[in-house]
Amino acid sequence: MNISLIRSISFVGVFIFCMTLQLIIPSRKFKKDRWKYMVSNVVLVAFNNFILILMPIIPIEAAVYANDLNLGLMHQFDIGVLEVVAGFFLLDIVIYFQHRIFHKVPVLWRLHSMHHIDPMLDTTSGLRFHPIEIILSNFIKISSILVLGISPVAVIIFEVVLNGLSMFNHSNLHIPKPLEVILNKVLITPALHTIHHSKIMEETMSNYGFSVPWWDKVFGTFCAMGKFPQEKIHIGTVPMPEEKYSLFPGMLVQPFISYKNNESFH
Ligand SMILES: [Zn+2]
Repeated sequence: MNISLIRSISFVGVFIFCMTLQLIIPSRKFKKDRWKYMVSNVVLVAFNNFILILMPIIPIEAAVYANDLNLGLMHQFDIGVLEVVAGFFLLDIVIYFQHRIFHKVPVLWRLHSMHHIDPMLDTTSGLRFHPIEIILSNFIKISSILVLGISPVAVIIFEVVLNGLSMFNHSNLHIPKPLEVILNKVLITPALHTIHHSKIMEETMSNYGFSVPWWDKVFGTFCAMGKFPQEKIHIGTVPMPEEKYSLFPGMLVQPFISYKNNESFH
């Protein structure tokens, strides 16, 4: 089966599933003008996909290249199926640290803050990343794949799973407590990720993971509970830019305008 077909089917499937669930059991009431942000976020995805077509190389091609030439750390050993499992988690750790760096370095925070100025979270927020952040992220992934020798199968699974989990953990979805306490041991749930989108800086500096909560626990950035209960968490940054810079196409120039938030990074 064609790889882009697998990605498209899983993307549409998870998107419809999460969008439906968040409408049935929302964690917080949808604001009346939320549709504007949803449309903007979806238009941004189409725009970003167009930009990615122009990339000279994509992660899966780098993985095939490394595999054919026996390049990278893991291709030096024969560890069978473990190669896929290890490759998946190594890439996930790379993305965890990439996320931390995008919060720490001022110029990168400008780009990443476009993701954080969404004033409310829903499934579409999980797709809302500045095209330059996506390009940089692709280069980081490609370098990691070549150095670590990540297998093509691990890369495909990782990209499909990460994309799906990003939509899931940004969803405005209420998960009943008994299920939440089990799920948040193995997954970054919407409740955990909402803490990362809080306007309180210490909370923004936590829960950087997109899939499992383990790296946050190992590296000391895990936050199980914020200052406010879920429904009362103030989402966004301090201060927030004018609304036009939170919506398409203004969101594309947001990293380059001057407002106080762009200088104050986490
Ligand atoms: Zn972030």
